Amino acid sequence: MDCEKRDCIIVGGGPAGLTAAIYMARYHLSVTVFDDGTSRAASIPVSHNHAGFPEGINGAVLLSRMRAQARKYGAEIRNLRVAAMSRRGAEFVISFDGGALSARTVLIATGVVNRRPSMPRDKHDEGVRRGLIRYCPVCDGFEVTDKRLAIVGQGSNAFREAVFLRSYSRSITLLSPTGEHRLAPREVARLQQLGIAVQRGPIEINVERDAIVIRAGAGDHHFDCIYPALGSDVRSELALSVGAVATDEGCIRIDSHQRTNVQGLYAAGDVVIGLDQISHAMGQAGVAATTIRNDLSELSVLLR
Ligand SMILES: Cc1cc2nc3c(=O)[nH]c(=O)nc-3n(C[C@H](O)[C@H](O)[C@H](O)COP(=O)(O)OP(=O)(O)OC[C@H]3O[C@@H](n4cnc5c(N)ncnc54)[C@H](O)[C@@H]3O)c2cc1C
Repeated sequence: MDCEKRDCIIVGGGPAGLTAAIYMARYHLSVTVFDDGTSRAASIPVSHNHAGFPEGINGAVLLSRMRAQARKYGAEIRNLRVAAMSRRGAEFVISFDGGALSARTVLIATGVVNRRPSMPRDKHDEGVRRGLIRYCPVCDGFEVTDKRLAIVGQGSNAFREAVFLRSYSRSITLLSPTGEHRLAPREVARLQQLGIAVQRGPIEINVERDAIVIRAGAGDHHFDCIYPALGSDVRSELALSVGAVATDEGCIRIDSHQRTNVQGLYAAGDVVIGLDQISHAMGQAGVAATTIRNDLSELSVLLR
């Protein structure tokens, strides 16, 4: 199959993919970004920790500015899902509904998907929009200082999140969605010591006017905000399909220059292990774009 070629194809148009696109377009590389419109950043009502925006910035607005900046320098952005990736000699072939493109290099910036608590999708999304359901204490713990908080989850993940949030509020409950909390005895003891309540499910989550009401056991529990800590699914399947190696957590394994173990394949953002923050995704993307530029330059494909 003959198809158009690019210097680089980026899969994922979140903060990582779009930052890389801006850098690469400005390195005079031909670059196409594929994006299926499910960036975690798009669900941020207002980010207050992203540097340079003292009044905060909405996630979708940030993405649209980055898309405009990438396009300004010649990057192509296609609102399409990449269905498959394969090798053809030294190149990669990216397939999507209606066609295929090839490139010598591919950057995977596909991110992760947070597992949601069991509740109707529209109610969940409304809760996120209104800041009643939050996913990132590193990002927005400050905004819930001294509020009534619940962490919905089990085991060590939920334990760590509850302990992290204790420096923001003394009113914290760890709520297991099932009858088991899966905490080790030393974790239970530590929670007790910190004054963090533990409540077992099953639970029913309701979004009310100014609060989240969780029905658990015999009663209703009112919270200003909940943090689901149910883990996430790493979107690494395309990289793994061409032989990339994953870490124990399921993230794509990379070297200090964002190269995977597959020559020509790079990864950046939440899909690799890291802080899962916009700033980190952008930093990794800058490194990846520059590594790709320099690796292509070794092949003398960049001379004007
Ligand atoms: C509610 C919420 C609030 C947050 N608040 C903050 C905050 O205030 N500050 C902060 O720094 N971070 C915040 N974060 C975290 C931040 O959103 C992520 O760290 C950041 O978006 C990661 O960027 P990324 O580009 O790696 O992945 P993403 O932004 O998730 O982008 C990945 C992109 O890949 C695309 N994709 C995946 N697979 C395919 C495919 N097969 N084909 C085509 N496209 C594909 C998706 O559509 C998506 O657009 C928040 C997250 C959430 C959920």
